[in-house]
Amino acid sequence: MALSASIHPTQQRSEISSANHWNVEALYPSWERWEEELKEVGREGKAPHWPEIAALQHGWKESPEHLKILIDLYCAIDRKLSKLYTYAHLRHDEDVAEETAKKAHSRITTLLHDFSQETSWIEPELLALPKEELSALIYSEELKPYLFYLEKMVRMKKYTLPAAQEELLALAGKPLEAASLAFGAFNNADLKFPPAQDSQGVMRELTHGKYLLYLRGSDRLLRESAFKNLHRSFAAYENTLCELLSGQVQGHLLGVKARKFSSCLQAALFPHQIDPSVYTALIEAVHAQLPALHRYMRLRKKIMGIEQLHLYDLYVPLIKEVEMGMAYEEATKLIVESVAPLGKEYQRQLKQGLTEERWVDRYENARKRSGAYSSGCYDSMPYILMNYHGTFSDVMTLAHEAGHSMHSLLSRQHQPYHYSQYSIFVAEVASTFNEELLLRHLVSKAKTKEQKAFLINQKLDDMRGTLLRQTLFAEFELKIHQFAEQGIPLTPALLKKEYKELNATYFGPDVCIDEEADIEWARIPHFYYNFYVYQYATGISAAHALVDRVLNGGDRERQDYLTFLSSGSSLYPIDVLKLAGVNMKERKPVEAAMRHFGDLVSELETLLN
Ligand SMILES: [Zn+2]
Repeated sequence: MALSASIHPTQQRSEISSANHWNVEALYPSWERWEEELKEVGREGKAPHWPEIAALQHGWKESPEHLKILIDLYCAIDRKLSKLYTYAHLRHDEDVAEETAKKAHSRITTLLHDFSQETSWIEPELLALPKEELSALIYSEELKPYLFYLEKMVRMKKYTLPAAQEELLALAGKPLEAASLAFGAFNNADLKFPPAQDSQGVMRELTHGKYLLYLRGSDRLLRESAFKNLHRSFAAYENTLCELLSGQVQGHLLGVKARKFSSCLQAALFPHQIDPSVYTALIEAVHAQLPALHRYMRLRKKIMGIEQLHLYDLYVPLIKEVEMGMAYEEATKLIVESVAPLGKEYQRQLKQGLTEERWVDRYENARKRSGAYSSGCYDSMPYILMNYHGTFSDVMTLAHEAGHSMHSLLSRQHQPYHYSQYSIFVAEVASTFNEELLLRHLVSKAKTKEQKAFLINQKLDDMRGTLLRQTLFAEFELKIHQFAEQGIPLTPALLKKEYKELNATYFGPDVCIDEEADIEWARIPHFYYNFYVYQYATGISAAHALVDRVLNGGDRERQDYLTFLSSGSSLYPIDVLKLAGVNMKERKPVEAAMRHFGDLVSELETLLN
């Protein structure tokens, strides 16, 4: 199962066989061809680039036919631009220092920006139409193919202000970013941590990246030192960091009051078509099942053989990684096997994509972008970037990205361009679903107790990070916004008290809530994102509920899931998940995921006894 000797991280891209590269030639055979299409579509140097769009600004509302011409045109140009962009961004990521791709990437990015500028009048003008006129247009026979697309756009009308006030709010946009930008600059550039001391007395450099590495390591003194030094550094600036977070929240509140939303939560979720009940159901359901996390903490303490479990003891893997060293071909075979519950046709398309069709840029080369992603456009294959080395986590990552890619592929196959892109709310469902299928497949094939325990422990820590930690964040985020709505000032003392209580509630009686952790809120960038993190938790919950439904069901349940994968954004995110068979407005899916977490704790307990 050893990796082929030719795979070495420092090798040049040209040294890797092109059979292991993604098939970008399918998009454009050469840069020359890309250049020709760019000229034709983008008309660089001309202003406006798209006079045919500008020409419609005066006549578009005359009749449904006129509006249809405008939207057809918009979609056609957008589609071509995104194809040009996809090629440039993929080629750029192959070697981030390569000049041709770098320049091309910057040119197409500028062009996309120009496109959004030249079309920026469409939405506000549409929203400014009197209600009856608007309805007559969008509910016309001609615009039927775009009905839901337009409905999504005009639902903002309710919260849209008269033009002069909108202009004022738009002007306030830049200064309102100040808190978030200042936090970013502080966190990424200005703040330095004192070094951490390991058990040998050696001082080790402490950075954001190294922090997690130390926390996963077996040197407990180093973990403790890193944990304390990092948090104390933030605590030294608690007043400043509290003001920044408070400023961010006040910015959200300004939008809420100006547009007359009922709450910060409602305002943040409304544009994504998510009901606040989804958010509260998540928090309630996790709370109801917190004893499962408490049991895991107790088990962790027992396995680690320590008297007191601290917050810096939570990231250490309980079982040493079983060496996988799995070649790419073997991983592909395993992944394709694992998706058997989705049917032969799904397996066929995935296998073809991961092998002959070459969706995947498999191995690391010098100056290649790090990490992994699934990307592409309506007219491309769903490409995957990997830096595959054959570890367990690489195999899981490939399964994850393959899940995204199949979701994209099926949505593109079944939807017109304007409904082909699925929403952020459902984005992590398909990827987590496939990871979960692979994990269950691996558990069923595990030959030793240790292998099985390793897999279960990985899953538990993954769920703790995604489902539980993100829900704790979501709850804190909701609390601080509610304080602001009630006019209660955010102070370091209040935030620390609230955070401590949440930590104690979530982790339970067996974890010592170190005082340093009370300041953790001050270092989480996501609190500047405006109600974003909950989607990690709802995504994993929906995926778990759907895996159970498909595995315990028959043809119909499988077909429902495939319908979800094929639906893109042709329905609201909650409705698209309902098609698959889960209702995220209810507590049930999250409770089921938490129950699964509890079952895994029991299984690990039995395995290790
Ligand atoms: Zn993902």
